[in-house]
Amino acid sequence: MAERTALKAQAEVFGRLSPHYTALLAQYAAGRAPHALLLTGPFGVGKGTLAGLLAASLLCEGENAPCGRCPGCVKAARRTHPNLLVLGLAERQKTVKVEQARDLLSSLATHPFEAGRRAVLLEGVENYTPAAQNALLKAVEEPDGGTFFLLTTAVESAVLPTIRSRCQRAAVSPWPREEVARLLLADGLGREEALELAALSFGSPGKARQIRQDARFPAVRKAADEALFSMVGLSALPAASQRLRDMKDSADLLLDYAESAALRLAGSGPPGAPEARRAQRILEAVLSARQYRASNVSWQAVADRLLMTISEE
Ligand SMILES: [Zn+2]
Repeated sequence: MAERTALKAQAEVFGRLSPHYTALLAQYAAGRAPHALLLTGPFGVGKGTLAGLLAASLLCEGENAPCGRCPGCVKAARRTHPNLLVLGLAERQKTVKVEQARDLLSSLATHPFEAGRRAVLLEGVENYTPAAQNALLKAVEEPDGGTFFLLTTAVESAVLPTIRSRCQRAAVSPWPREEVARLLLADGLGREEALELAALSFGSPGKARQIRQDARFPAVRKAADEALFSMVGLSALPAASQRLRDMKDSADLLLDYAESAALRLAGSGPPGAPEARRAQRILEAVLSARQYRASNVSWQAVADRLLMTISEE
């Protein structure tokens, strides 16, 4: 059974990442868990996976929960457990609407639950409309005894303060690079690709997998290598500028790639060597480019400024 190994393997990974996660899993296995827990952390860092593990721990009927083998674990992993309710974005949906929140509440009231604990997963709460969040407030605040709410969000500020204040919080941190690489190797990637993507992921395995599936990545990497890392002298600026301008739709990916490639370059030679100085300039330029982008400066202006900073000696 695929779920069995996957669930146990996931629990092992989180156990390696931090004893804090192990303690959290044990709390849920014992049913001594907060009635509402908000898992926060950057995109792709495993908040949903951890929430799934915590739900499985609650619903596990075996020893060493989540055992991964019992019907409770198997059904939780398949999300077919009658005592597991899940609300999140449906396909092609941009927000979770108040009607969906109300549907969840009526399922909570009328659902023919099996005896025992129940887990309610509220995924990506930043995507819930304020009305939807408000509708859930009372249930999150005062769930009945055996019900445990697990909320996840990558954007804590988009969760209503009233919801936040009723949840205990747990941060899911970026992973060490070697753990991301290890996961990618297990996905079947070659060593070199796994290491490159792990460096690019900034500790988020979900981001590494997303970049891998991004058809634009090879072109982004080529453009950054040619425009930022191989550019020689001011005469090359116009061509480099055009090159970057064409990457408008992949600007964030390009900046991420430039940062990880510059870090690699910085670590490749003695400090003070020309490569190290160039790497440092690129890192600083990427940092200010991100700030300009955050204040809605056009990509073209950001890219040209980036190139000017890098070409300054
Ligand atoms: Zn189990």
